[in-house]
Amino acid sequence: MEEDKKDENEKTKRAFLGIWFDCCHTYGRLYKNKDGTAYVGRCPSCLRPVRVRIGGEGTSRRFFRGE
Ligand SMILES: [Zn+2]
Repeated sequence: MEEDKKDENEKTKRAFLGIWFDCCHTYGRLYKNKDGTAYVGRCPSCLRPVRVRIGGEGTSRRFFRGE
């Protein structure tokens, strides 16, 4: 299976945010949604959805804790 990685990188940049999930004490990643308004993802352990808004307070932080 071939993935169109170049194209994808140029268009979406695959921006992600490292996050610590307090629920399971594990580290994971959130990816930017297509509108660029939030980072969304799931805890890799319990699959609980997590969302971190982009814009306003907190955007400059590179590391978030799941709430
Ligand atoms: Zn969890």
